Amino acid sequence: MTDRRIDRIAAHIARFVVCRATWRATRRVAHPVALSTALGLSALTTPGARAQAPAPHRAEERAILGEIVAINSSSGTAGVARLARTIAARLRAAGFPAADVQLLGPTPELTALVVRYRGRTPSTRPLLLMAHLDVVPALRVDWTTDPFAFVERDGWYYGRGVEDNKAGVAAIVATFVRWQRAGWRPDRDLFAVLSADEETNGASIRWLLDSVPALKTAEFALNTDAGGVALEQRRPIGVTIQASEKVFANFRLEATNAGGHSSVPRADNAIYDLAAALSRVGAYRFPARLNEVSTAFFREAAALQDSTIGPLMRAVGAQPTDSIALERLAARNDYYSSVMRTTCVATRLSGGHADNALPQRAAALVNCRMLPDDPPDSVRAALQRLAGDRVRVTSAWDAVPSPPSPLRTDVMQAVRGIAREQFGGAPVIPEMSTGATDGLFTRNAGIPTYGVGMLASEQSAPSRAHGRDERIGVEAFHAAVRTWETLVQRLAASAPVP
Ligand SMILES: [Zn+2]
Repeated sequence: MTDRRIDRIAAHIARFVVCRATWRATRRVAHPVALSTALGLSALTTPGARAQAPAPHRAEERAILGEIVAINSSSGTAGVARLARTIAARLRAAGFPAADVQLLGPTPELTALVVRYRGRTPSTRPLLLMAHLDVVPALRVDWTTDPFAFVERDGWYYGRGVEDNKAGVAAIVATFVRWQRAGWRPDRDLFAVLSADEETNGASIRWLLDSVPALKTAEFALNTDAGGVALEQRRPIGVTIQASEKVFANFRLEATNAGGHSSVPRADNAIYDLAAALSRVGAYRFPARLNEVSTAFFREAAALQDSTIGPLMRAVGAQPTDSIALERLAARNDYYSSVMRTTCVATRLSGGHADNALPQRAAALVNCRMLPDDPPDSVRAALQRLAGDRVRVTSAWDAVPSPPSPLRTDVMQAVRGIAREQFGGAPVIPEMSTGATDGLFTRNAGIPTYGVGMLASEQSAPSRAHGRDERIGVEAFHAAVRTWETLVQRLAASAPVP
């Protein structure tokens, strides 16, 4: 549905808002040369250059990414199933038993792919590896190149979905193929879950969690669809790991009235009642409150800030209940304010039925992004209190609860190790997205979920995901595959690929 699509756009915008707000002012390291020297990066001219892939690996990764980008898998079209089948064929050809490569979903349009990579010790709890097959539609007329042709130009790979989230799909597929061929066995089972409608309803991942019992036994999930590496002038300055998402809910505010002839206005009026209610909603701020993930976010990101914001972030990171410090920080930046509190904002409005009649009805949609532990009922009750007696508040989209994932030591250590080895010791920054991914539903199913996409991009350049001429850096893509491979192998607790 459209709101969810907007939600994804919001997530991407938020990601880059935070990148700009957090990292643009990294004046502690005044000059790129100083940063490079401080981090021992003199040899690092491209992200992940230390993990340069052998040529055959690069060629295969490129071929896999090119194949899946060239299939138009816009949400809700038959292309999603076609893509799922194409990937399934590739995996079976690589030696995966047919029974372990499952094409499944509630409807043909929602055909997803679940691949089981069998480990040595099936009794240990599996890991989920997540990506989504669907993309936001794109029009040829809006693009410089054909959005559904895979194009390499000037150090970039172009194509719809190349960032969101086909680079992630390709990383999962390329590593599975390579490991299978090399005869590598993880200690435990790995389940790749490639869902079919992340960009719209999330019905695919919900159905898979309900229908494939093994998925819910996972110890935790790694999601390629969130997290990343922020670069400043090609040098890594932060590795983000998404461990939480705000919870999405819509409420309808409606005022009704007997109406009448507009030549005889009366004291009560549906439009004025609604407008007054919305003014109160607009002025209200839900209390600021941090959880483990947002506390860690402020604590870790403080080091990258200048002397005006850095100390404030450090203060809330050290003392997350200090409401005065929280409000001072919130006043500096809308994104930080949104990270620390439930927000509700009017997004749609309608009312009246004729130019010459008193309105009988006025309604607004209010979109809330709730802190994961805020009960939806209490948010609705707060809106009703603000709206007053003459405006009724009802739920228009029920929230799916999604608790923050604990910052597990094994996951954090593995990501920090990669940041040290491949990204020059850049700080690892946990984050709570203000938007939503499939991780919302895996967390709801009790599976701690970590967004570790590892795709590097310049923090000063806006993301083109969902927009025109979507692209990723060629080197960034191959580095991300390598990083993903290392991360999964370490967390699958087994011997490295020979
Ligand atoms: Zn995505």
